[in-house]
Amino acid sequence: MSSMNVDKKRKRALKLALSLFIGINSLYAFKLYRDNAVLRNDLKILEILDSGENVEGIDSILDDVQKRVIELTGDSDYFAFNSNSIEDQENYILLKSIIDNDNLEEKEKKIILGYYDFFKDYDFLDKKQIYKQFYNLKIYDHDSFKTRLYKIYKDILGGNLDKYIAVHENNSIYYLVSNPDKATIAHESAHHMLNSPKLPQIIIEGLAVLLEEEYISNDLKPLDELGSYNRSVAITKILCDLVGSDAMIKSLNDNSMDPIKDKLNYLFPNDSFNTMFIDNLYDNDTYNICYDIQSYIDICIDKYYSKNESKIDRMQNNLYYLIDNVSFSDEHHYLKKEISVNKNYLDRIASEKAKEKVLS
Ligand SMILES: [Zn+2]
Repeated sequence: MSSMNVDKKRKRALKLALSLFIGINSLYAFKLYRDNAVLRNDLKILEILDSGENVEGIDSILDDVQKRVIELTGDSDYFAFNSNSIEDQENYILLKSIIDNDNLEEKEKKIILGYYDFFKDYDFLDKKQIYKQFYNLKIYDHDSFKTRLYKIYKDILGGNLDKYIAVHENNSIYYLVSNPDKATIAHESAHHMLNSPKLPQIIIEGLAVLLEEEYISNDLKPLDELGSYNRSVAITKILCDLVGSDAMIKSLNDNSMDPIKDKLNYLFPNDSFNTMFIDNLYDNDTYNICYDIQSYIDICIDKYYSKNESKIDRMQNNLYYLIDNVSFSDEHHYLKKEISVNKNYLDRIASEKAKEKVLS
């Protein structure tokens, strides 16, 4: 072969490689452009709906969503909606974020679509935020976890990965086993839906368990079957009963404990009880030591006693009052409105007199 030929061949190969490279890149760029266009368009729709105005062509968009959701789930009853209700229209756009996400498998889409009732129950949810979360959710299966992240996670999680089934990190879900069950996928998706890192871990985990149990699995497990989640769920249920599920979900939505604090302040005005109760939720030592609500309360009392001996009686009274009066059950829904028997404590005490007694 002459050198001239080699040169020509080289140039041709280079040209081909370059055009392939450009081809792949423009395909990728096109996909990115298309994805961003869908994202921007749907966020705009949510914005217009939120302002109470009409969106042009909304009916055909919603019809298309309904068709695709029914195709996927085979369920035409569950996803029924009233086309005149703006909330229903917004919730359908949220379903669209899930079915439009090419990173999700059918199985995962079907599970996550089950949060439709949750969207309907809490109309104050930040729907643009939830849309972005679901539209951008990436799930990495066990094989890609093993090849890409196994070593890093082994170090982060202290060498022992056996007890983990899946994790939610960096706005993605990673499967640590090859076929996680429905409850696991729903639990990690709940973390993703309303990512609220400023809340105490106890509340973050407790609410993820309740969201999964009440909206997806409809399987309310007793505390002793919940493993290491038991303390999170116990404290979360007690707080749900005291301040009401609206304040709990509002805190999750706002990434702030303020909605919960405000209700506690109303229940126990001018009392350091609330500060103590909330601060302790952030304490990792507390989280690791207390396996049930009674031990949590004991720790609160001990801590309070060491700082504030003179006020111990009042503190103790409030804590015992709390244990005696909240209705705490393994069998009740706390979040799902349609079947929840628990109303917030203040709403439940019927007479003004009883209210006065609590608030005096
Ligand atoms: Zn979790």
